[in-house]
Amino acid sequence: MKILVPVKRVIDYNVKVRVRPDETGVDLANVKMAMNPFDEIAVEEALRLKEAGHAEEVVLVSIGTGDASETIRTGLAMGADRGILVKTEITCEPLGVAKALNAVVARETPELVILGKQAIDDDCNQTGQILAALLDWPQATFASDVAIDGDAVTVVREVDGGLETLRLTLPAVITTDLRLNEPRYASLPNILRAKKKPIEELTADDLGVDLAPRLTVVRVEAPPARRGGVVLGSPAELMEKLKTEAGVL
Ligand code: AMP
Repeated sequence: MKILVPVKRVIDYNVKVRVRPDETGVDLANVKMAMNPFDEIAVEEALRLKEAGHAEEVVLVSIGTGDASETIRTGLAMGADRGILVKTEITCEPLGVAKALNAVVARETPELVILGKQAIDDDCNQTGQILAALLDWPQATFASDVAIDGDAVTVVREVDGGLETLRLTLPAVITTDLRLNEPRYASLPNILRAKKKPIEELTADDLGVDLAPRLTVVRVEAPPARRGGVVLGSPAELMEKLKTEAGVL
């Protein structure tokens, strides 16, 4: 079995994001970028399935600028076999990404696609679901456990009321939740080995897909700054402030 893992290059989750002064988006200049954390979990899960003998190959795919090859390289250093970069200057929306992934699936014919449940930059949580619809494959989103069982996969999902267990016939689409696993760190020998692993470059034209955005971002605003706290001298003072300033008593 072949597993395809889409990985997105996003602002590192440790970076404090700054909104551009013209409010058209966030500032990406000189900002540390990294693989979307949910995609690291997807890569880890695919590698564990391979190590358990359920898969022969783990292929990574990223849709983005040339820099996205660094993100693919990160996944190759974790242990994935090869990568595909769909190179574009367009900032893609989930529909465009899913269309590109649909075309990559047609070329690669994987039995399983494991995506992150959401990208931490756009917080869309849509790509896996749209891809499953385009492919007409079963889907299990927010996976917290994945087990291959012959020509099927059993997935435990985190839902509001607790845990739901689904059994899907392969091929299928899975999206990862935070508690599925803890991604490994790449070892130095694997980082060096990853430099030699192949990354194929494709364009939207090669895949015959239209990545043009359908949405217009009207405005991006930073959250309001937090007001500073005050240290009060006594419980009586607190009661007074709750009455007079906060108006809650
Ligand atoms: P989203 O629907 O944008 O929240 O993204 C959900 C998941 O889709 C991500 O965790 C990735 O696995 C995948 N994905 C989204 N955008 C891209 C991209 N540009 N390249 C590769 N994978 C992507």
